[in-house]
Amino acid sequence: MTTNKNAPLASNPTHTDMDMSPDSASESSFSSSHRLVVLGGGEAGLAVLHALNDQSFASDIALIEPSSYHYNQRAWMEVGTQGTKKERTRSDLRPRIPPNVHWIQDRVARIAPDDRRLTVESNQDISYEYLVIALGTTVLWDRIRGLKDNLGTSGICSVYGYEQSERTWEMIRDFPGGRAFFTAPSSPHKGGTAPLQILREAESLWRKTGVREHTDLFFTIGPTEPDGEPEYAKLLNESPSEDLHVFDGYELTEVRPDAQEAVFSVRKGQSSSQDVLRYDLIHVVPPMRPPALLEESGLAHPSGPMKGYLEVDPASLRHKRFPTVFGVGDAVGVEEVKTAQRARKQAKKVAHVLRRAMQEGA
Ligand SMILES: Cc1cc2nc3c(=O)[nH]c(=O)nc-3n(C[C@H](O)[C@H](O)[C@H](O)COP(=O)(O)OP(=O)(O)OC[C@H]3O[C@@H](n4cnc5c(N)ncnc54)[C@H](O)[C@@H]3O)c2cc1C
Repeated sequence: MTTNKNAPLASNPTHTDMDMSPDSASESSFSSSHRLVVLGGGEAGLAVLHALNDQSFASDIALIEPSSYHYNQRAWMEVGTQGTKKERTRSDLRPRIPPNVHWIQDRVARIAPDDRRLTVESNQDISYEYLVIALGTTVLWDRIRGLKDNLGTSGICSVYGYEQSERTWEMIRDFPGGRAFFTAPSSPHKGGTAPLQILREAESLWRKTGVREHTDLFFTIGPTEPDGEPEYAKLLNESPSEDLHVFDGYELTEVRPDAQEAVFSVRKGQSSSQDVLRYDLIHVVPPMRPPALLEESGLAHPSGPMKGYLEVDPASLRHKRFPTVFGVGDAVGVEEVKTAQRARKQAKKVAHVLRRAMQEGA
């Protein structure tokens, strides 16, 4: 755990051997308590903190966020398709945190909602009265065989990571033409239709440079439920591109850098098969999943399309079984697009409901 100079770690620290069983006391060395704890200081967590601040809401609030930086993930698209420097997409987190908030620069490891308590990786226990979960999604680079170790080489790129975004620009800019693939996974992913927007941006550049006429363009979409991601179909119909090959029901499972081959698992109705396609450039949007600790803590949807995501009432964003727990942003299991824009709207709603609940002690 790192102590931030400007932010006291905890307003109310106590040694845990006073109030915990010997077993748990030996596991954790220190504890603190806060009226409200926000987990995750990305777009959603910060938006909640600012919405509460806007309402002149003074209380004992802590933020748990390990990163020293704020990342504007939307801008990775500009890095990858326009050559913006990646450093311009990140900034110091400290000035973005409202001054009345205690920043605990650590990573939450466990949540025990029955006890209204959580543990951070440095082994500190923190108890809360109210909890806001804004932990985003986890990108699974290693779910696609051959991807993680070969990103940035052999025509394989992605703007779905800070480090990878600049190399993506070099590959798109220097592409001489050939077979260019852009993939979208079947799992819920952040950025809405960003996987298709990247294709559009690259295509627009290649038109200007004359590369487009030497390029076969492919867009692959992982198999989704019938009510899955409808936006692609709409966008593709609205602005059809010449010679764009759309492969629906195609989930990328492996990249073979030596042969420049992409392996897809293909689902059409009830039948499934495999297809191996040669590429010269492939932009990959990797699968994503909610943070595992939500499932481990019993706070997640146990089944269904939102399995693993935080189980909240979509109207109030309040947890269905733990009424002092709220959720906002990409980690929340509601059937809405996972964007920063959506997270900011959710944050206003959560701040409103939360403020009332805290005032009424509900
Ligand atoms: C390429 C790309 C393009 C996009 N385009 C758009 C767009 O055009 N428009 C738009 O609105 N949105 C866009 N998005 C989506 C947008 O960035 C996300 O929806 C938004 O960041 C979600 O906010 P969040 O706070 O839920 O998650 P994040 O911003 O990812 O924040 C999650 C935070 O939780 C922290 N965290 C994770 N685990 C722990 C832990 N165990 N303990 C404590 N903290 C933890 C992380 O460090 C992080 O700070 C795009 C995203 C990408 C990648």
